[in-house]
Amino acid sequence: MDLNYSAEDEEFRREIRSWLEANLVGRFAQLRGLGGSGREHEAFEERLEWNRHLAAHGWSCVGWPKEHGGRGLSLLQQVIFHEEYARADAPARVNHLGEELLGPTLIAFGTPEQQARFLPKIVAVEELWCQGYSEPGAGSDLASVSTKARLEDGQWVIDGQKVWTSLAHHADWCFVIARTGTGDRPHHGLSYLLVPMDQPGVQIRPILQLTGTSEFNEVFFDGARTDADLVVGEPGAGWAVAMGTLGFERGVSTLAQQIAFQRELDAVVDLARDNGALEDPLIRDRIVSAHMGLQMLRLHGLRTLSGEQGIEASITKLLWAPWHRSLGELAMAVAGSAGLTVAEAPYGLSPLQSLFLFSRADTLYGGSDEIQRNVIAERVLGLPKEARA
Ligand SMILES: Cc1cc2nc3c(=O)[nH]c(=O)nc-3n(C[C@H](O)[C@H](O)[C@H](O)COP(=O)(O)OP(=O)(O)OC[C@H]3O[C@@H](n4cnc5c(N)ncnc54)[C@H](O)[C@@H]3O)c2cc1C
Repeated sequence: MDLNYSAEDEEFRREIRSWLEANLVGRFAQLRGLGGSGREHEAFEERLEWNRHLAAHGWSCVGWPKEHGGRGLSLLQQVIFHEEYARADAPARVNHLGEELLGPTLIAFGTPEQQARFLPKIVAVEELWCQGYSEPGAGSDLASVSTKARLEDGQWVIDGQKVWTSLAHHADWCFVIARTGTGDRPHHGLSYLLVPMDQPGVQIRPILQLTGTSEFNEVFFDGARTDADLVVGEPGAGWAVAMGTLGFERGVSTLAQQIAFQRELDAVVDLARDNGALEDPLIRDRIVSAHMGLQMLRLHGLRTLSGEQGIEASITKLLWAPWHRSLGELAMAVAGSAGLTVAEAPYGLSPLQSLFLFSRADTLYGGSDEIQRNVIAERVLGLPKEARA
């Protein structure tokens, strides 16, 4: 892949840069730097408004094809978009689950009717989504989900429990993996359902996290209903769709993430400079390693994302998750004893403390690192499949 920006790309950079300068003003100016992993509670409604403002000017779903309402940007232009977005310190967007996970899934697997019903509302940020995969007894072993759905009077009726459902308390819809039949193997008989959240059969209970915030939830389905045609792919064949979504989760969206990582690393370096930690040769060594690791992540991302996303997505996850977790540890080493105390009760965390605590989750969500290693071992190295109970 040619990593040089063309004149057209540079023109695009000027366009997005000047748009952001002209629009991150007035009430939006105070949103700079807010939101993101572990900080989703920050000014959520205001960031939603900003997200809709972006959408109204064609800056939502920028990587989607034009025929589905996106901007049809090339990979490099998406990189530029995210670089400029981060450079302007624009607030984290609130509809990433719809934009980066469900939308691409519907484009790949949905019917024309499903695409027409849902994609425009994701582009316009009028409907927010959450992901109903994990259950108390089904995380890494997703195929053992026990939430069930049955067809009754032209609707799916859903019973069961999901857990760790990020942003369910803000979501209008949930994409749910439910068992609708049986088969020879656990992943047979699963269906990928689109379920409205605002109904009596859905109950949402927030989970208080180590960070003091509650961005994810338990979700209980008790006779919840959705229309019979709101199943993506064939009923009982939802596993391939579910895996497709996970590929998108580990795909292009990681480019935006790396730019956020750069800003966090910059903040660690600034703190080290301010508090004298930079004089410590061991800290300097760790900062240099973190810098080199991030450059490697970026180049690896650009190289692999320009091709088909298969096993590469697992490798990318294995690279960024431990890198980010060790950045959290470096942040605490740089902060020293100040990193151990909070600014105010009960949970006045600094951004670097939030980084440290939230980054403990990186090697888990989106498929844990151990599971990615299993995938690589079995599919790339051809090692024997692990024994299953
Ligand atoms: C911040 C965050 C946000 C999340 N958001 C969502 C969401 O929006 N929607 C959703 O559905 N889920 C979400 N999750 C859940 C996430 O997908 C699960 O945590 C993840 O799949 C792991 O499942 P588990 O927690 O049940 O752990 P388990 O599967 O019980 O795993 C526990 C440990 O055992 C290891 N392990 C398990 N099986 C194997 C094996 N076969 N070989 C080797 N090691 C193994 C794992 O790697 C892990 O270290 C979120 C999680 C986090 C942390």
